[in-house]
Formats: sequence, structure tokens, C-alpha cells
Amino acid sequence: MSTAAHSSMKLAGHESQLAKKNRPVVIAGPCSAESEEQMLETARGLKKVKGVTVFRAGIWKPRTRPGSFQGVGVIGLEWLKSVKQETGLRTSCEVATAGQVELALQQGVDILLIGAHTTVNPFLVQEIADALKGVQVPVLVKNPVNPDLQLWLGALERLHHSGVTDLGAMHRGFSTLDNAPYRNHPKWEHALELRKLVPELAMYCDASHIAGRRSLLRPVSQRALDLGYDGLMVETHFNPVAALSDAQQQIMPQELHMLLQALKQQNAQVEKGKQGTQLEKLRKEIELLDDELLALMSRRTKVSAQLGDCSKQATQTASPDPVRWDLVLENLLQQASTAGIDQRFVETIFQEVRSQYARTHLYNYGMSS
Ligand code: PEP
Ligand code: MN
Repeated sequence: MSTAAHSSMKLAGHESQLAKKNRPVVIAGPCSAESEEQMLETARGLKKVKGVTVFRAGIWKPRTRPGSFQGVGVIGLEWLKSVKQETGLRTSCEVATAGQVELALQQGVDILLIGAHTTVNPFLVQEIADALKGVQVPVLVKNPVNPDLQLWLGALERLHHSGVTDLGAMHRGFSTLDNAPYRNHPKWEHALELRKLVPELAMYCDASHIAGRRSLLRPVSQRALDLGYDGLMVETHFNPVAALSDAQQQIMPQELHMLLQALKQQNAQVEKGKQGTQLEKLRKEIELLDDELLALMSRRTKVSAQLGDCSKQATQTASPDPVRWDLVLENLLQQASTAGIDQRFVETIFQEVRSQYARTHLYNYGMSS
């Protein structure tokens, strides 16, 4: 039995209580706590949004460079308490050290989040797990920054071994070679591998950190719901443009309301037609594969543009080398045949890709006929 399969059995049965009742669980609130007024103003707006049950706010912010806003620290925990008192929403925040766990629990934070930059570090995860021994608090573990399933699973196991039974996984996307058009590439099929290993684990989608921009929140959230995720997290601020962190991806509470309304309708349709049919599953799989194809095409287009520039500098012409191209194509066709894909189909696609390259680069350099 593989370690992963063995581990998954040990985790089984420890599903999130949070996601048991109303699905999807919607977690919303600002990227960072900035002031008591900002927290309360945002929370009052969220209180009116049907479906939102948990308020989030970053108290300590893991920032790439020093000098950017690092979070307000402990005072923010007081503001979270005020939010809970005034609105009755449950509260959550990210913790990255044992000390932060202690402080958050002391101040009555209801749900803890382990951030992507912490999940990558087994020392920190173990420190947090040790601090949680004997404590019953729901913990949602974000995927590590890099697409490493074992690290994600490992963090869940460390917490589970410490006796944390209310566990969930939060998918926030991965840092890949090219994340376009996302901030963090969702790599849905990768995240779904975790669900295969631990089917009982509640899966949440942090649509905001995958999308990185407002316009992608809806498709990302919809995809998560269509894939049967148990919850969504959407960063929300009463005045997003003034946000001290992640301003470009936050939305106002009213916008979250509209987003959730739009999702529900579509989701109801999908659910109705779905009924677990094989057809629906296969359609979803094709959609995921199309996403992958698109991401690859986007990467290829960028590299091909760089190639055009380089060859122009080197030879004063962007003209593709026909002999080399024939060899490349022959090799591709051979691979297609081995993989059981129709060679004519593959040839058509690659000829089109090549023509597109020629059209773009020859035309751009004023060499088209
Ligand atoms: C956040 O939720 O604000 C955050 C910092 O997320 P992540 O750990 O996904 O980067
Ligand atoms: Mn954020």
C-alpha cells in the first residue's frame, strides 16, 4: 500500500463539521484587517449577504518583500471579536506560528486557516499542530504554493495526528511556470487528486487567490461548485480600491451578493441535470483538459514571440527554418501515431500553429507578401 493511500485511510472519517450543514459554506472578509471601522463596515455588509456564515481577515500577512503591509497584528484580533459580537458571524484568520495559534485561540477566533506559505514548511506545520494538541477548533489547510500533493496531505496528517478532527482543505491555486490568466493556476485536476485520496475531506475554493482579479471570480467559483466543492472563500472589502493588500481582487459585499446569486442559479441547473451521470463527469473532465490546453497554448504563444524576437536579432529575419520544421513535424506525427491520435488531426493543428507564427512575426516585421 502506498504511503499516500495509507495516510488517506488514517484521515478518513474526520470530515469538516463546518461544511456539513449549509453548502456551499461561504467565507468572506478582507484580505487584511486594516482598522476596526473597515472590519465592521465590511462585516455589516456581509451580514446582509445570504449564504455568508464566516468572516475572514488576515491579521499577520505573509508578504514577499519587507516594507509592504505586514498586517496589523494582535489588535486585529480585538476587531474580529467586535465583528463576532455585532454580527454573529463566525470568525477566521490565518495562523503561521505556535504563538499566533495561542493568540487567536485566546481571542476566540472560531476557525483557523493555514496559509499556502506555511503549508510548504513542515517545521511550521508541526509547530502549529503541536500548539493545537487537545484543542477542538476547525482548521482549513491551504494547498502549498507549489503543486506538491504530498506536502498538502502531510500538513493535514500532522494536524490529524495532533487530534484536530475538524479539518478541511482549501484550494488557492499553485504557482506554476505561467499562471496566466490567473494569479495562481488552479490546476483543478491536481487539487481533485487530494479528494480522491481523502474523499471525506471538505474542499473549499479560495476563488480570490486563484483569480487575482475581480473578473475571474465568477468562472472560478462556478467551476468549484460544478466540481462539488463544499465551500468558497471570497475576499471582500467595503472599499476595495483603498485596500492595503490584494486591492485588485477584492469585491464589495453587494458584489458578493450578486456573485452568489448568479452562481446559485447556474449551480441549480447543473445539479438538476447532473445526478451523478457518467456523461456529466466526462464533460467536466473535458472542460478541465481544455483549460490545460489553453494554458499550454498561452505559454507557447509567449515563448514563440520570444523566439521571433531572438531570431530576428540573430539573422535579421524572423523567417522559420523549413528544414528544421519538417523534422519537428515528422517527430510530432510519430509521437501522435504511438499515442493512437489521428496523424492528420495532429498535422492540421500544428500546421495552423506554424502558420499563425509566420503570420504574426513575418507581418509584424513588415515582411509579409
Ligand atoms: C490570504 O488568504 O490572504 C493569503 C495570504 O493567502 P495565501 O496563503 O493563499 O497566499
Ligand atoms: Mn489576500
